[in-house]
Amino acid sequence: MAKVNKVLVVGAGIGGITAAIALKKTGIDVDIIEIHKEFNIYGVGIIQQANALRALDAIGVADEAMRRGSPYGKVKMCTPTGHQIGEAGTPPMGHFPSHNGISRKILHEVLYDEAIKVGIQFRMGITVETIDNQPDKVSVTFTDGSAGDYDILITADGVNSKVRGMIFGDYKAKYVGLSVWRYPFNRPADLDTGYMFFGKKSKVGLIPMTSETMYMFVVTAEGEDNPLIPESELVPKLRSYLEPFPVKIVQDLIEQITEPKLVNYRPLETLRLPSPWYKGRVVVIGDAAHATIPQLGSGAALAIEDAVVLSELLQKDAPIESIFEEYMTRRFNRCMMVVDASETLGAWELLEYQGKPLPEGANVGMLMGKTMMALTAPI
Ligand SMILES: Cc1cc2nc3c(=O)[nH]c(=O)nc-3n(C[C@H](O)[C@H](O)[C@H](O)COP(=O)(O)OP(=O)(O)OC[C@H]3O[C@@H](n4cnc5c(N)ncnc54)[C@H](O)[C@@H]3O)c2cc1C
Repeated sequence: MAKVNKVLVVGAGIGGITAAIALKKTGIDVDIIEIHKEFNIYGVGIIQQANALRALDAIGVADEAMRRGSPYGKVKMCTPTGHQIGEAGTPPMGHFPSHNGISRKILHEVLYDEAIKVGIQFRMGITVETIDNQPDKVSVTFTDGSAGDYDILITADGVNSKVRGMIFGDYKAKYVGLSVWRYPFNRPADLDTGYMFFGKKSKVGLIPMTSETMYMFVVTAEGEDNPLIPESELVPKLRSYLEPFPVKIVQDLIEQITEPKLVNYRPLETLRLPSPWYKGRVVVIGDAAHATIPQLGSGAALAIEDAVVLSELLQKDAPIESIFEEYMTRRFNRCMMVVDASETLGAWELLEYQGKPLPEGANVGMLMGKTMMALTAPI
């Protein structure tokens, strides 16, 4: 039987901080380390589906995230001229709406503030140097020369996880042929919810972040060789991608794109760590186990859910392996459903932008709807 008293969380991103808060609130001692000396969360926003809010509620911060973000209903799916052809989104759950749009920086602040409130101390600017994964404990040395023994180590260091590499071997993220461009704006008065405009070569999304602000994302296919985009091309390219969208709310944005530093360009990648996501006393959560492309806006939601489920299971007085097995039972299929569906949506999108036919039966609305409905299931 294993009673967990002391945990090391590696990585103070969305998943790691959620895990630290959840564990600390149940009386478990937590060390959390972060490789960066200071947090530098980039300024665009993130979509939180209702299931993300439900999971944030388990650590007591969902209402604060909504207060500091912008709750909204289903996303309106439109043609480039603005004609609505459908709507998408997780059904509302309890008092949680389909979506909350929030700045990443603010979401991080909400989590960080709660972590500080419950007494978590962040150790910044360090990472793990060595891990000795023993039957009854994990002994870790850190890059600042310190060391510690823990009952378990939670790996939450993101898609390019160092700890995953040290324990599970070499898994690399796969580029899917699509990229996303993001830019923050003042919120237009007529932005009453989230919007997506589907073009022949790209799609444009507008997501509220507060009553005053929103961000835009544009998904494009930049080529199979995943080219680097020089900074001097960021503004002109992004502007040019909006031209085929005659709808006024998009056209009005073109002139407002002026700052290369505000253009956040990101090739889209996916990663699946095969089951099981644990070895001995080391367990993996979030993008380090299952990075998804954002076609369903659900990667962070999964990281938060992983953290909540794992923390709940660690209350049990049961052998570690059975706790981790139950974690796999509750998380693996659900996470793979999102990663797989997102990748399929991305593959169809890529075919469309390349002017190629979609596979028979491909139905974007149906796949999105089915997956989002499935996400309402209890975790
Ligand atoms: C373009 C794009 C748009 C997205 N949009 C959405 C969305 O709208 N909604 C949504 O739910 N999800 C979205 N996602 C996914 C979401 O961003 C991720 O799923 C989420 O950030 C994963 O959280 P995480 O804590 O697992 O990893 P991360 O957020 O990557 O955090 C990892 C942390 O670990 C730290 N770290 C890294 N290496 C080490 C190390 N060796 N030692 C110590 N610390 C380390 C990092 O600095 C970071 O703080 C999007 C992703 C992309 C790429």
